[in-house]
Amino acid sequence: MNENPHLRAQRLLAESLVEGIAAPDQAWLGQHLRECPDCAHEAAATQEQLQALRGVPVAVPRDLVARTQMRVRLRAQEANESSRSGLLLWIITAASWLLGVLSAPLVWRGFAWFGGQFGVPRLALEMGFVLWWTVPALLAVAAVLYQRAVTQGLVAENLQRKTKTPR
Ligand SMILES: [Zn+2]
Repeated sequence: MNENPHLRAQRLLAESLVEGIAAPDQAWLGQHLRECPDCAHEAAATQEQLQALRGVPVAVPRDLVARTQMRVRLRAQEANESSRSGLLLWIITAASWLLGVLSAPLVWRGFAWFGGQFGVPRLALEMGFVLWWTVPALLAVAAVLYQRAVTQGLVAENLQRKTKTPR
């Protein structure tokens, strides 16, 4: 690995703050920060910035995964009565949630890096991060609700037609 040691230090620093790094990397990073005032300064600034962000999302996802799985299971139990397309849409919804949840640490790292590079205010970063993985999920839910409305509309139409048919 012939990565520039300062770049490596910054990369490891970002990773350690967001998702954790292996012990050898941690040791290497610690030593580099002791020897290199520039990186140490950078580290302190980043740490301060991320500390401010700590209160926000990253802890949420675990719970979200459990809840999503439960919801899918409940839906699957109801599958006998409800339509297949409805179930399919629920699975898509769940998948979109999970995708959002799984990508959250990566996205968060991206946001943290972006904020550090361009001095984006903390609030803007928070909003951006929250929007990133709530919007796709909201769209999926909207799709499910729309599908349901369409199905119910068709059922109502059929009923109407039946009652209108002369005997
Ligand atoms: Zn350095």
